[in-house]
Amino acid sequence: MKMPMVNKCTAVECSYNRDQTCHALAITIGDPAHAQCDTFCRAPMSGGDPKAVGQVGACKMSDCRYNVDLECQAPGITVGREQDIVDCLTYQPV
Ligand code: SF4
Repeated sequence: MKMPMVNKCTAVECSYNRDQTCHALAITIGDPAHAQCDTFCRAPMSGGDPKAVGQVGACKMSDCRYNVDLECQAPGITVGREQDIVDCLTYQPV
């Protein structure tokens, strides 16, 4: 299984975000009641590897069409704000 890329994330206030790109090595999606980015954080420092682009390490949204055994199998995902929550915008409940 390959980990999908985070193609874009517009949550620029996240410590892992630089120029709308996620640099966390592996994010987790889902809390699991909501398809939020569970790795989002506001630390007073930059996080992740600036040379790497984030990938989806795990996803707890078992009702998503891309979810296989709690792993994301989408070709890639987009993350961004939906109201007050930073969500996986690729999430598609079946
Ligand atoms: S995908 Fe999640 S961890 Fe990565 S920059 Fe966006 S909010 Fe932060």
